[in-house]
Amino acid sequence: MSQIRIPIYDPRPEVEALWDELHDAIDGVLRSGRFILGPEVEAFEREAAEYLGVRYAVGVNSGTDALVIALRALGIGPGDQVITTPFTFFATAEAISAVGATPVFVDIDPDTFNISPAAVEKAITPRTKAVLPVHLYGQAADMEPILELARAHGLKVLEDVAQAFGGEYKGRKLGALGDAGAFSFFPTKNLGGFGDGGLVATDDPEVAEAARVLRAHGARKKYHNEVLGYNSRLDALQAAALRVKLRYIDEWNARRRAVAARYNEALADLDGLVTPVEADYARHVYHQYTVRVKRGRRDALRRRLTEAGIGTMVYYPVPVHRLPVYAWPEGSLPQAEAAAAEVLSLPMSPFLPPDAQDEVVRHIKDLLSNIT
Ligand SMILES: *Cc1c(COP(=O)(O)O)cnc(C)c1O
Repeated sequence: MSQIRIPIYDPRPEVEALWDELHDAIDGVLRSGRFILGPEVEAFEREAAEYLGVRYAVGVNSGTDALVIALRALGIGPGDQVITTPFTFFATAEAISAVGATPVFVDIDPDTFNISPAAVEKAITPRTKAVLPVHLYGQAADMEPILELARAHGLKVLEDVAQAFGGEYKGRKLGALGDAGAFSFFPTKNLGGFGDGGLVATDDPEVAEAARVLRAHGARKKYHNEVLGYNSRLDALQAAALRVKLRYIDEWNARRRAVAARYNEALADLDGLVTPVEADYARHVYHQYTVRVKRGRRDALRRRLTEAGIGTMVYYPVPVHRLPVYAWPEGSLPQAEAAAAEVLSLPMSPFLPPDAQDEVVRHIKDLLSNIT
């Protein structure tokens, strides 16, 4: 096995850059004796809401829980259909199933990899209760036509913003456009903590209140549980660290955009490789930098890059509708299936050294001209 010298993502430079601030923040929590919810979590919720431009933010245990709790807070449950994209992490669909609803998968736009609004429209039935777009890789789904359809048909819109903290659609922060937004602070996300964490963002006071009740065993008042909820609170240590990192998110997203621009230039016009497209409505934050490798050469390229010590990933090799738990027929969502066969995510982080990036580019150019 060859050693990976250039990992797809390395969290350590981010920690090093903020070492003293993180240390002070964590020290403060240890001294406070308040480890679950409490003042740090409340402060983070306030600051995150202000950053996103929403009235309420509710810290929870993970991005998956943020989706589950937001769906329930929006009143989605058994018998309901939720239209979503199959080209996403499994948790998006899993959350829909977890609340007893049925995910209805529709195809994606091949340029942005995000849910196609025209496909959403065709899938609406009398049982449709919500649309769940994902802002994949850090880029906005095309929200305006989705919000219009939702208004016309009385549907809720929940945004999966797990990969796009700080990303924008027509100048507005993602997660602030629909009825609610679900965020993840899993360590590799573009706003990552040091463990699991998540957030529900909303402008609706009733949705925010329902989410607060659900995250605490369904109790508004301790030991007076009203509904079946969850143990899903954000830890104070995560909140304290995230408050520090939130102050740098714009700077770091800008760095990601600069790394992406450098890749775009170096990899432009390469035969059989398609660089990511930034839609005119989007400010892409490049949680992932993902290319398409055409003509069936993706897996060979990936293998050779691994041998050269360069880490890459395929997000996602099997679209969710084709996984055994859902098992939709092959060929039913051709754009998602084509994307799954072609995508390759390259090393990306705010601190990717330019010489490492140059090496990635050099290997891709060499290898692509040598793979037949
Ligand atoms: C990471 C991710 C999730 C789940 O977040 P966790 O914090 O890992 O539970 C949901 N949706 C998408 C698109 C993700 O990338």
